[in-house]
Amino acid sequence: MRLLIVLLTGALLCPAEIAYRVRLTANEGNRVITLPSEQYVSAVLAGEAGTFQNDEALKAMAVAARTYAARMRGRHATEGFDFCATTHCQRVDARAITVRLRDAVRATAGEILWFRGQPALSVYARSCGGETEAGKAVWPDLSAPYLRVHSDPHCVRRDPQQWTWSGTPQQIAAALKASGLQSPDTLETIAVVDRTSSGRAKTLLLTGRGQVLLSAGSLRFALGREIGWNTLRSDHYEVRAYGGRISFRGSGEGHGVGLCQRGADEMAAEGFSYREILAFYYPGTSVGITARDFQWTRLGGEGIAVLTMRPDSDRKLLSIAEQLRREWQSRLGWESNREIIIRAYPDLDSFRNATGEPGWVAARTSGRNIDLQPPDILDSRGALRQTLRHEILHVMVEAHAAPALPVWFREGLVEWLSAVGQASGRSSDGEFFVTSPPHDLLQRVDRKRAEQAYEAAEARVRGLAKRYGADAVLIWVARGLPEEVKNSSESSAATNSR
Ligand SMILES: [Zn+2]
Ligand SMILES: [Zn+2]
Repeated sequence: MRLLIVLLTGALLCPAEIAYRVRLTANEGNRVITLPSEQYVSAVLAGEAGTFQNDEALKAMAVAARTYAARMRGRHATEGFDFCATTHCQRVDARAITVRLRDAVRATAGEILWFRGQPALSVYARSCGGETEAGKAVWPDLSAPYLRVHSDPHCVRRDPQQWTWSGTPQQIAAALKASGLQSPDTLETIAVVDRTSSGRAKTLLLTGRGQVLLSAGSLRFALGREIGWNTLRSDHYEVRAYGGRISFRGSGEGHGVGLCQRGADEMAAEGFSYREILAFYYPGTSVGITARDFQWTRLGGEGIAVLTMRPDSDRKLLSIAEQLRREWQSRLGWESNREIIIRAYPDLDSFRNATGEPGWVAARTSGRNIDLQPPDILDSRGALRQTLRHEILHVMVEAHAAPALPVWFREGLVEWLSAVGQASGRSSDGEFFVTSPPHDLLQRVDRKRAEQAYEAAEARVRGLAKRYGADAVLIWVARGLPEEVKNSSESSAATNSR
């Protein structure tokens, strides 16, 4: 069966292997480099877990780092790369990769932590201090039941992970001011007035001449930036004013959500495997190369069925598709009751595994079946509607096409109709005849050549529409191309398709 595709413009994914564009730190000149996935995971282990003592803990971190990347790919897309090299995303230190780290990555090659058909949000923190934090406490909109509060006896087994820090009220007020935050005049005391369910400080009351409410996170970041990151290591603390200073006594380090690095290393020392470590810190998830709990849900619509693993977020897709189908049925006058089936893959890997298409292919159509990259990825590139329009037009053209209709005409017609259908529309007339071998439309090795072939096919159909009229061109879909178009020397090369 002939397969028709949409090229995803702007996607820079390597067709052979997943790779990430990483912006190095200012020390390394803010350069953006491309790292194949497994090399990126090794570099994250070097940046985030270089001090680990135990290999099973390194393997658990490798799976967490790989999963985080799979889930958060394109986090900095608007800036032209996927990830920064700091703890904002994951710390990367490509120069500190060792054989031991590489072995931990290889031992878990391609393995990802799954939850309901999607890579989990596999966040981690230095040390939870005995009690992990809920994901919701840090990211209120997050729905990730595997990021929950639970006690962690492992990280405090050898060392209670306690710390103290104290500063003068003037020092603290100055740090707040430097971060643009309010502090009462002549700050005297700080009190915790609200805590999260794990007992971490959430809201603080600052008292002096007047009172100010402040989130604990804001105070921690302000002190970190101004005085140093070893001041308040976590929000898990008690605070009191004493002897002209404000003293914090706390435990743990970092936000405490997800995998506790100190605890994971200790679990490995106690003989737990990396899978057991991951199951302890991300309860309810499963480890595998593909999603285990792969389950398709069918959303039925008007002439459209959407198969999805994320029925809630993909409802939008269904309504856009229904609307496009209606619109183009009436524009083209091609009534058909045939249902169009759209399969929306939950992630890029499952799309690629199932279709064999490279990542720069947004979707493909085969008969009345459309295979689609994850709608949220397409949406974030502003390409969802355009991709759906293209593929739905393909289904319609295919349902009406005469058997001998050449590939360049099918592709060119759909591209041209899509362009006409867009408000902006491409207005240039283009070349009347542009030829390109049909091989360029069907091959997947050279992306540039494929793009040029698509453009050439569109320009050619646009030229035919200009010369013969749009109605005539549409009639050729069912009747086949007239002899004079078929026999023109420029087109003969292109019509010689499979
Ligand atoms: Zn970042
Ligand atoms: Zn812990």
